[in-house]
Amino acid sequence: MRYKILILSLLVLMSLYAQYREYPFSIKKLQMTYQCWSLKNQPELQPSDWFNATMDSTHMGMRATNWSAPIVWTNTYNELVLASYYKKHPVTVGLIVFAVGRYLLYYLGHFLESADRFFMVNQKVIIYIMLDDFSYMPWVDLSRHRTLKIFKIKQERRWQDISMVRMKVISEHIAGHIQHEVDYVFCMDVDQIFKAKYGLETLGDSVAQLHTYWYKESPSKVPYERNKSSEAYIAVGEGDFYYHAAVFGGTTTQVFKITKECAKAIMKDKKNNIEAVWHDESHLNKYFFLHRPTKLLSPEYCWDLSKNKTSDIKTVKLAWNFKNYKFLRRRL
Ligand code: UDP
Ligand code: MN
Repeated sequence: MRYKILILSLLVLMSLYAQYREYPFSIKKLQMTYQCWSLKNQPELQPSDWFNATMDSTHMGMRATNWSAPIVWTNTYNELVLASYYKKHPVTVGLIVFAVGRYLLYYLGHFLESADRFFMVNQKVIIYIMLDDFSYMPWVDLSRHRTLKIFKIKQERRWQDISMVRMKVISEHIAGHIQHEVDYVFCMDVDQIFKAKYGLETLGDSVAQLHTYWYKESPSKVPYERNKSSEAYIAVGEGDFYYHAAVFGGTTTQVFKITKECAKAIMKDKKNNIEAVWHDESHLNKYFFLHRPTKLLSPEYCWDLSKNKTSDIKTVKLAWNFKNYKFLRRRL
């Protein structure tokens, strides 16, 4: 009996020693664990802390969806509250952009310079660039806290395919590495220029962009895919808003789901020889119809400057760049 107890205590001692070898006790570590634990137990940021949902006479834009997702416009958010919250809970934000063929030559430099100035100022940012030719990568001076990661992808033969293949490539990169590198991620068209601060107010679980041309239109009039055989089909009378595929984002988990589902739907359509009317955008709209976004951005976050500004557009944060399709669709 005594013999057994001796062996048992020896075993317990040995396992305690093994644990100690792997996790040596230290006051510093205990403090860090405690800090982590107490930060995690601080209340999460509530919309009422940073977002002003009440309409006033100076602001006509709708500020919330009927499923209670905030619609972020200029003057609806409190930058100081957001900055102080994220100072205590630091996050890293990813920005994924594709620049293939002439888009690389013509747009990438302007996009990156303006992103450096206005996108998530003072936050840690990793910009992921997917391009087809390293030798055309423009030189850009980046500020502190900004990192570039450049990947080579192959040039698709048709421009529609470049835009659609993005969904697949993004989902693969999120699964492969991006999920371990950032907390939130935005996917953007490269033919755009940041014009004003584009900050923490835009972060959310899943974030969709209201389309400049369609945000005042009723869902029955917007260009959803109406072919019943397509995976992107939305029946007339259904749908909430028309979202612009030039900007979408969210946590890495959500953006992985969005892009994976869209890529799957695009492939299914391809097998059936179907291409949705607005390509990946039609599929994104279907996804957000089935899984409503938790935050919407006003058209100020992706505005076409050649369109007359109405009084609801106060500060344009990101603007479409000029388009010369004849030039762009030629090969490099
Ligand atoms: N794209 C690209 N090269 C091309 C076509 C598209 O790099 O030849 C990428 C680029 O990021 C572009 C996005 O795919 O912004 C979507 O294409 P485009 O901007 O032409 O779509 P639109 O704005 O006309 O809907
Ligand atoms: Mn575009």
